[in-house]
Amino acid sequence: MSNLPSEPEFEQAYKELASTLENSSLFEKNPEYKTALKVAAIPERVIQFRVVWEDDKNQLQVNRGYRVQFNSALGPYKGGLRFHPSVNLSILKFLGFEQIFKNALTGLNIGGGKGGADFDPKGKSDNEIRKFCVAFMTQLSKHIGADTDIPAGDIGVSPREIGWLFGSYKAQKNVWEGVLTGKGGTWGGSLIRPEATGYGLVYYVQHMIQYASGGKESFQGKKVAISGSGNVAQYAALKAIELGAIIVSLSDSKGTIIATDEKGIQPEEVQYIAQLKVERKSLTELTTSETYKSRFKYIEGARPWTNVGKVDVALPSATQNEVSGDEAKALIEAGAKFIAEGSNMGCSQDAIDVFEQHRKSKKGEAIWYAPGKAANAGGVAVSGLEMAQNSARISWTSEEVDNKLKGIMESCFKNGLETAKEYVEPAEGEFPSLVAGSNIAGFRKVAAAM
Ligand code: GLU
Repeated sequence: MSNLPSEPEFEQAYKELASTLENSSLFEKNPEYKTALKVAAIPERVIQFRVVWEDDKNQLQVNRGYRVQFNSALGPYKGGLRFHPSVNLSILKFLGFEQIFKNALTGLNIGGGKGGADFDPKGKSDNEIRKFCVAFMTQLSKHIGADTDIPAGDIGVSPREIGWLFGSYKAQKNVWEGVLTGKGGTWGGSLIRPEATGYGLVYYVQHMIQYASGGKESFQGKKVAISGSGNVAQYAALKAIELGAIIVSLSDSKGTIIATDEKGIQPEEVQYIAQLKVERKSLTELTTSETYKSRFKYIEGARPWTNVGKVDVALPSATQNEVSGDEAKALIEAGAKFIAEGSNMGCSQDAIDVFEQHRKSKKGEAIWYAPGKAANAGGVAVSGLEMAQNSARISWTSEEVDNKLKGIMESCFKNGLETAKEYVEPAEGEFPSLVAGSNIAGFRKVAAAM
């Protein structure tokens, strides 16, 4: 029995990875990697600190801040910061653990980490959020650096917060260095970084569709259900629309919008939703907008999956465990053939099991699931490209960054696919397991480096 407190999210992420390694020929071929897994399961370092800040009424407030420096075998710790009231060590350890292998799959020299605070930006004024960011970085700045640990955004941390955090770091250390990614364009940010996770997700799924159809199909005419309405969901929707897809849903923590016509959600509607997010308003605003209210059905308190009608592709892009086993079955009933996570650990283990069982059906009817550590790696990949540009004191064009992103997503897909074929040979007519292949490919690289 373990004497440690239970860490359900971290244990889920660990078991998901470990079970795919154990059910492959990896440990037979490399018995020493068993020890590597035991070592990799423990963060190199966990930093916990208190963040004291003053609200608009001049009252002191306090929150818990964290940085999990999980693994630096491949390079400096790299991973986002999450500001959300649910944040605790279990959630940050799960995110940091996933980040190690995701970062390995990008092919860049970056290790894995994650951090954040149980601070809730909802209901706070801009001034309060700024003060919190400054106070948070006053503590965190002691432990990070451009060659040590490079945080970025995650839920609750957008380019605006990155700006306040960066200014605070620069003031503490009297140094301009690329210590954060996701910066603004005028002060060292990379072009395409805001778009990268969503675009990368769509580029990845494009490869799934092309492979599954023998090159005959694309996003053209496909119905796509998306959850979430933040940065990942917005840019996934825009890129999929550009490639001819029909977006049937978006959502937030309060409910889901479903498009009421065959055109689906339009780019200008995604822009309007992006503006709502900047103003920290919810999708309920659409139900009272004269321009938009007839365009959407709003389902309060629901996630999209059981409400979308017929779909071909599902992209969970909100948060962890946002697809249950029953919802996975409902998606299959609705016709979904491709499921790829824009969020980290978007699917519960039950949901993954449902999707993976259906991978075993005959080609053409089969379901194919891609885990976040491969499908959403585009965000951190362009963060890695931002680090490279900062170090070299240069800026690449949008086209250059987008082309590199496309190349990285293609190799993420192919690496997972080929590794699955090598270590868990698929039966005749079966798709190779992208979850097993991506886990093994990411882990193998880190284990070798360790
Ligand atoms: N939070 C993002 C992720 O989950 C990006 C991390 C980064 O850019 O460092 O991958």
